[in-house]
Amino acid sequence: MTDLSAGQLVIVATPLGNLGDLSARALALLATADAVFCEDTRHSRTLFSANSISPNGRLFALHEHNELEQSVEVIARISRGETIVLISDAGTPGISDPGTRVVAAVAKAGLTVTTAPGPSAVIAALSVAGIDTERFVMEGFLPRKAGERAGRYQEWVNERRTIAFYESPQRLVTTFGELAERFGDRQVCIARELTKLHEELIRGTVAEVAAKLQGREILGEIVVILAGASEAPPVDEAMVTDCLRERLVAGDSTKAAANYAAQLYGVSNRSAYELALAIRSTL
Ligand code: SAM
Repeated sequence: MTDLSAGQLVIVATPLGNLGDLSARALALLATADAVFCEDTRHSRTLFSANSISPNGRLFALHEHNELEQSVEVIARISRGETIVLISDAGTPGISDPGTRVVAAVAKAGLTVTTAPGPSAVIAALSVAGIDTERFVMEGFLPRKAGERAGRYQEWVNERRTIAFYESPQRLVTTFGELAERFGDRQVCIARELTKLHEELIRGTVAEVAAKLQGREILGEIVVILAGASEAPPVDEAMVTDCLRERLVAGDSTKAAANYAAQLYGVSNRSAYELALAIRSTL
């Protein structure tokens, strides 16, 4: 742990819902910090009063619209020897929440950044999903535009790592319709309202879960944990060759036939092209 007498920025995780999840260290830091920068001061006042801590004029807003300006203030205060705490509405600051820019600015100024770690919805969801956690990617929130989401799904076709993302209840059914078209057989877990009264885990294949969602009103906060692509079966070169021959005979250009076979069998464009060239010379 760093020397508390020197100025520093402390990134403090707060509960996702269950107030009992505030750590003893987090509580002490909230009670003693010279200033607490929070995403929404009204929201954080509730946390303070639930823990009988007086804000005492120490709460300041730091959100996505003023993070850079507030970084200057945070740096000035730390330079004067103050301990500054950063919290978000829930979970860990900087994880799909403001925080990374102020951390980068403070670090760049050569000042101390430390953490009182704790809840984060993505880690909590991964821990209960029962889906491989050896390697995972966090996608944050998916893009709102359908075309951009489709691009993201395309990236997941060959993604072997487990995929985690945050989702709003209003978009969940649409998202699962899209996922079912592409990844119907993969395992998935919807982690809803973690640590709260209505905590729920909905598991199954994507197709099964999409069916379970039909006609249900889903409320609350949601993390989706989606299994990655399973190991590709070894490529049968005879099948690639047959496919290429068929396309070339049908009139495809060498490049078009190669791209088609590469996509279908997951082989590289280059090796498919070389094979297509060799086949063309025999036709
Ligand atoms: N920084 C936060 C963290 O570390 O958990 C995440 C902030 S992000 C703006 C908020 C999203 O986290 C919600 O929209 C939801 O997807 C997810 N989330 C937050 N609390 C949750 C909970 N109790 N159960 C499930 N998901 C939750």
